[in-house]
This record gives sequence, C-alpha cells and structure tokens, in this order.
Amino acid sequence: MIVLKADWEIEKMRQAGALTAQARDYVAALVRPGVSTRELDEAARRFIEERGGTPSFLGYEGFPASICASVNGVVVHGIPGEQVLRDGDIISLDLGVIVDGYHGDTAITVPVGKVSPQVQSLLDTTRAALLAGLAKARPGNHLSDISNAVERIATAAGFSIVVDFVGHGIGREMHEDPQIPNYGPPGRGVQLRRGMVLAIEPMINMGGPDVRIRDDGWTVETIDGLPSAHFEHTVAVGDPPDVLTAP
Ligand code: MG
Repeated sequence: MIVLKADWEIEKMRQAGALTAQARDYVAALVRPGVSTRELDEAARRFIEERGGTPSFLGYEGFPASICASVNGVVVHGIPGEQVLRDGDIISLDLGVIVDGYHGDTAITVPVGKVSPQVQSLLDTTRAALLAGLAKARPGNHLSDISNAVERIATAAGFSIVVDFVGHGIGREMHEDPQIPNYGPPGRGVQLRRGMVLAIEPMINMGGPDVRIRDDGWTVETIDGLPSAHFEHTVAVGDPPDVLTAP
C-alpha cells in the first residue's frame, strides 16, 4: 500500500532530506587516497548526530554502520571497515537520516583521485540515469516511466542494469511501497500523484548485470568484478518534481 504524504509531512521530509544531502556532500568531500571507509563512516555519524539527526542505516536489520561504503565492484551495502581507498578507485556512499520521524535516503558514487575515462563514463551515465528517472516523477505518469527512463540511459551507454535491487517509496519508514525497478517498459504500474515520495536509485554495472552477496550477508558485488555505480535521490512527486535531497 502506498502511503500518501500530506504537505506538512513533505515539509518534514524536506528537513530530513536536507540533512541527508548535507551529510552525503560532507562525506563525499572527505574521499581521497589513503582514507579508510571506517573513517568516512565515523565522520558521517558524527555529522548527522551533531545536527540532531539519526543515521537510519545504523542497526537497520543489524547493519553495523551509518553509511554503506561500496568500492569498485561492490554494488551496494558495502560495510565500512579497514579498507583504505586508493587512487583510481570509485566509492559509492549511501546513507539515510531520520529527522523528527521522517526519512531521507541518498547515494552518490565518487572517484578517488584520478579514474579512467571508462570509469568516469560509468559515473556520468549513472548520474544521468538518475536525473532522467527523477524527471518522470510527475503526477499522471506511471511508475515504470521512471524505470524505463533509467534503463534507456544505461543501455544506450552500453552498461547493464542491476535487477536484483530496486528503489522504493519512503516516509515514516525507509522502505515503503512501491518498489521501483530500474528497467522495464513505460506506462506500467501505478499512476503517480502528489503525496507520493520516492527514493529512485539506479545501480549500473560496467560489465554484466549479475551480482552476488558475500558471506557477510550484506555486501553485494558484481560477479565479473567490474565496477558498479549507484546514485540516489529522495523525490516528492510534483510538477516539477521536488528533489528533497538536492545539494
Ligand atoms: Mg534507498
């Protein structure tokens, strides 16, 4: 069941989204060769808590950290730890924040030092796919118009879509209905309307689409080991779409 939000709830979600976006951009600016993913996680937690937010990933179904830190061939849900970033890596930073009972959720993939042109193209394409999806978050469109817009950008660039993980509705819960696949024909699924708030999150692989989960039960990685990128925004359906985690 899709929970529609009243205007006053969307204003609360705007506050949560703003802190989520600030934390994302703060941590992204700390990325450089020599920093560990644990340091990034600790910085994120401190930043969020000092500003009155709660890191929503911490303890979520037992997740042990405030951010997901997914390096290179890790798609999503990487656990921060002793891994030290090196020049030429990419890292996806995914984080959620609760403010006054409402959630924000966002992700960005950033280069560490200098990356290859092909890797930069993966990042640019995944960001463009997210923007194309966001642009479809308008009243009257169908849910799969978002999915289709994401897929078209990714496949036109020769990359593959991760199909095992999807975007989602968001509000008082981090994961609400509907699920939002990053692929599929347009014109399907529920019709979008004001009051829907969605987390759109393309996950795009440079190589094949197949992924597996490591023995830690969290880390999702590409089977071929090739890099994967992930960008995410929380958006309220509107005309124009209202991106709550904009910079
Ligand atoms: Mg999400």
